[in-house]
Amino acid sequence: MNATIINNKKTGKKVAQGMMQNVLEQFNSAAEYIDLHRDIQKILKITNNEIVVHFPVKMDDGTVEVFTGYRVQHNNALGPYKGGLRYHPTVDIDAARALAMWMTWKTSLAGLPFGGGKGGIQLDPYKYSNAELERITRRFTYALGDNIGPEHDIPAPDVNTNSQTMAWIADTYMSSQLPAKRSNNQHVVTGKPDGIGGLEGRDRATGYGVYITIKKYLQNQNETLKNKTFIVQGFGNVGYWASKFLEDEGAVLIAVQDASATLYNSNGIEVNSLNDYNYINENRIAGFPHAEMIEKEEFFSINCNIIIPAALGNQITQENASGIKAKLIAEGANGPIDNEAEKILIANGVDIIPDILCNSGGVIASYFEWLQNRNGEHWSLDKTLVKLNQKLEESFNKVYTYSQEESIDMRKAAYCIAIKRIEKAYIQRGIFP
Ligand code: GLU
Repeated sequence: MNATIINNKKTGKKVAQGMMQNVLEQFNSAAEYIDLHRDIQKILKITNNEIVVHFPVKMDDGTVEVFTGYRVQHNNALGPYKGGLRYHPTVDIDAARALAMWMTWKTSLAGLPFGGGKGGIQLDPYKYSNAELERITRRFTYALGDNIGPEHDIPAPDVNTNSQTMAWIADTYMSSQLPAKRSNNQHVVTGKPDGIGGLEGRDRATGYGVYITIKKYLQNQNETLKNKTFIVQGFGNVGYWASKFLEDEGAVLIAVQDASATLYNSNGIEVNSLNDYNYINENRIAGFPHAEMIEKEEFFSINCNIIIPAALGNQITQENASGIKAKLIAEGANGPIDNEAEKILIANGVDIIPDILCNSGGVIASYFEWLQNRNGEHWSLDKTLVKLNQKLEESFNKVYTYSQEESIDMRKAAYCIAIKRIEKAYIQRGIFP
């Protein structure tokens, strides 16, 4: 395996554009607002470590393909690096850096003892068989070597990865000849299946958080979910569970978009019925009989109360932002709104529940799983949901109150709270040597 570890602080490597530009602008604006210590600003603007691995894998037909995998470790001032692994053609160093930074703010805001990391493999998983994906995942884990570990850097599922992916990683990690890695290390990853230390409810945790934060937001406006219309981009784990919880409380799903189609039904799309169809149709909603197919460009301008982007980054841009009629956007995905679009939305009075708050249910549940494994416990689904609810409400209240007191938007408020916690850790521990 060829592992290149770029220590960004030493090389001072130029930071790329795209998602990275978004996250840095968001960070800079909050850092200035709270007058963040200049030295700490320098540290947080850049990633700690960047691991890039190229590894060969034998395909089912006997040929060999070489893959590129990434793991970016942004910051660990508050604890081990934490964040998902994504399998998607858009995974590159820029995306991994930005997503790792978002994890640092997310774990800090949630009050967890974790830092931020992110990574993945640049590939389209739908082009590979299950057996190939298993070999790719195991070989990637092997290539990452000691760069991950239960007290060092703990991956989790993200776009196109799931509990099965995590099971392969845990098994490969624990199959090492090194005694330190061999046993009791299930918590090298979170989001595992329940038979091998996974947390009951981890699958629905991100969607649950999207639902709770929307509900809390509406409560603060003296409103409820009853009859509120919503649209969802992405019908994976986050999109499905958020829709399910919202529907259970009387909200109505009227449009869904994925890579295969944009579906619309003003009378409502039944969430479980679409989910069953999506499952049988191999994760494609196209052809669902109880909704009409509309043009993909029409999606964000649909007349509705709430938009939930729950797919990839940079989906709401200056091209489509001004057409948005909804008054609330809840970011199930990481970085779905670019900074230009955000200015338009704010000027138009659209409120945004920011990603680092809105989709934090997943990593909070990951923390519970990590604790469960470390303590040799088994948590019930009820316990998980009660604790998750408590943590999400605390985070939401902190962000909402701060944004009201300071008359700033919720993203800026969330960043200020997250960054202040990291600043305090640096001030108290100092800088080695
Ligand atoms: N991939 C998820 C996120 O972006 C979960 C990360 C985790 O549980 O570590 O927040």
